[in-house]
Amino acid sequence: MNKGVLMKSEVYFSTLEEKSRNECFRTILNNTEAYFSRFKKGAFVGLKLTVGDRKNTGYIKPEIVKILVENLKRRGAKPFVFDTNVIYTGQRQNAVDHMNLAYQKGFTPDKLGCPFIIADSVFGTDSKIRKVDFKNIKEIRIPSLVTVMQDLIVLSHITGHLMSGYSASIKNVGMGMASRAGKQIQHSSMKPVIDAARCTLCGCCIESCPMSAISEMRGKAFINPNICGGCGECIACCKFNAVSIHWHEDENTFAERMAEYASGILSHIRRKVFINFAYDVTEECDCIAGNDPKITEDIGIFTSTDILSVDKASFDMLTKKADIFSRNGKIKIHQHQFEYAKKIGLGNLDYKLIEI
Ligand code: SF4
Ligand code: SF4
Repeated sequence: MNKGVLMKSEVYFSTLEEKSRNECFRTILNNTEAYFSRFKKGAFVGLKLTVGDRKNTGYIKPEIVKILVENLKRRGAKPFVFDTNVIYTGQRQNAVDHMNLAYQKGFTPDKLGCPFIIADSVFGTDSKIRKVDFKNIKEIRIPSLVTVMQDLIVLSHITGHLMSGYSASIKNVGMGMASRAGKQIQHSSMKPVIDAARCTLCGCCIESCPMSAISEMRGKAFINPNICGGCGECIACCKFNAVSIHWHEDENTFAERMAEYASGILSHIRRKVFINFAYDVTEECDCIAGNDPKITEDIGIFTSTDILSVDKASFDMLTKKADIFSRNGKIKIHQHQFEYAKKIGLGNLDYKLIEI
């Protein structure tokens, strides 16, 4: 259990007021020496982030990552940037296309100062089982690399999310560090439905469903819930708002599984730091194509060694003026996830905010 559960966890915050993004990040690193000095000479430090969809522009930029890479290399550590393959269609479904996409977006060794790798192999089949004991899951499926990782820094661009409402560090670890099989298991309680009145049978969802769960029925698209893996691809692709989550009494299971995965992953990693970037916050996550308008003003960067505290502190500050993540009260599972994450000992909901 995280020792912070018993008392307030520290969360450092650097505002973007009168600072560039790079200066803001340097302020964070310069004021949290105790966090980063734990990454010693020779340590292989995994920097987890997502490069986002090809057309997305909100992702954390390589220039920012390089500041951290240089900091770690000065300590003699061996940083590397990594991500895992996703379950929906697109360039991040296999490591070859994923790495080419990352290079196109500037995540090259010369711009980062270190390699960018995909943790779960070319086709996302590197998936080891680790036993856990939670309410919803008794085992997690994660890449071999994650099973032996000892040093981790999680860089999360905060956004909204069409399924989880709010996307930050817990999602970046729980979903983002799972293998494709692990991701599928987490999504399996989410079964979208199609509103026939809105469906134009454009075919987009039928073509993009990775599990071939959608077919035509009486002139409309239809999802077979027995085949659907809950990846959300069809929701993202439908331009007619005809696909939505079928909220039911298990609607919180998705959020709980994600927290359980995050706990199962982090419990074996000795040194970890979480950094949340609260700028360019959009309604949809970086996996979605296009350049969404921002849904709130840029505020700054948060960091902590407590994953729950850093997510809660970022959420509280971002929603101080308006409820920007619930989509008019429709999505509340992020609130449930905070409570559940605390219950399973993932971290602390009580935090001490230190403004620097
Ligand atoms: S993408 Fe939307 S409109 Fe097109 S077939 Fe699917 S549900 Fe119907
Ligand atoms: S029907 Fe299910 S498996 Fe297919 S795209 Fe939609 S959510 Fe994913």
